[in-house]
Amino acid sequence: MPRSIIIFGSINLDLVARVPRLPSPGETLSGSSFSTVPGGKGANQAVGVAKLGGSSRMIGRVGEDAFGAELLKSLRDSGVQTDLITVDRASSGVALIAVDDRGENQIIVIPGANGNVDHSDVARLQSVLTHSSILLLQLEIPLAIVKSAASVAAAIGATIILDPAPAPAHFPADLYERVDILTPNAVETAQLVGFPIQSESDIDRAAAVLQHKGAKAIIIKLGAQGAFCATETDRFFIPAFSVNAIDTVAAGDAFNAGLAVALSEGLELRDAIVWGSAAGALSTTKSGVQSSLSDRATVEAFLNRQKP
Ligand code: ADP
Repeated sequence: MPRSIIIFGSINLDLVARVPRLPSPGETLSGSSFSTVPGGKGANQAVGVAKLGGSSRMIGRVGEDAFGAELLKSLRDSGVQTDLITVDRASSGVALIAVDDRGENQIIVIPGANGNVDHSDVARLQSVLTHSSILLLQLEIPLAIVKSAASVAAAIGATIILDPAPAPAHFPADLYERVDILTPNAVETAQLVGFPIQSESDIDRAAAVLQHKGAKAIIIKLGAQGAFCATETDRFFIPAFSVNAIDTVAAGDAFNAGLAVALSEGLELRDAIVWGSAAGALSTTKSGVQSSLSDRATVEAFLNRQKP
């Protein structure tokens, strides 16, 4: 039986307007198109897990508005279990995004219901976690609640994978030691350790710093360069797959989803990182966010083609 995967985090709707140029203060502009795109790092990872055939259950909050209903439907349609998602009296979490003809953008993020995730949601998490669960956390809900979720999961003995994105100004020192696998990208790594990541020795040193802070394993996601992993007993690098990348949005979420699904099926960490890397690489070959996440057959066929 594969282990269950529980995702505790953010659910957002991106409202995207295309405009010839970004408006000045006080100006009204005519745009050329409008679209709604489901997102939020929690929801992206939940959809990624479900598409890869993992058991995916999401805990979080949407608003009591039309967006909330749309977000719940899109999660369900992707195969995510949504029974523990709360409908909150706040608005749904949204990002208002204007993109101009040069690709420049202006973004306003309103956490809405995501900002109201609280200890009652942690209690819901506690009611379904077992020592064999894998818990995926990110940092788009209140940090104190992420800490509390990690404490509960650590006490139960679940495996905790924390994506420290977006990196907070102050990462709580006692959160590190509760994390089994910390998965920052290069920018987040630099923010966490306080020095830039420009060379292989920076990567190695940063991983050592994060291990020293208490995380059991660190995977530093390095985009087209691949991923570096440090555990108590091992340090290794998994190169990225060579693909024709057109849109790298959500590559990190695809990676974490692939990693979790592979671990849930009993793969060793190194092989699970290869799975995550394949899911990450494939997500860059399509535009979009959740729509760019691959299904299991696509990842398996891709991995088979890579074998000599
Ligand atoms: P994030 O989206 O969090 O910034 P990354 O961009 O590092 O994360 O992507 C996560 C993983 O996805 C990488 O470690 C790599 O395995 C894969 N990946 C990302 N971009 C590319 C790319 N251009 N080509 C191949 N693989 C990629």
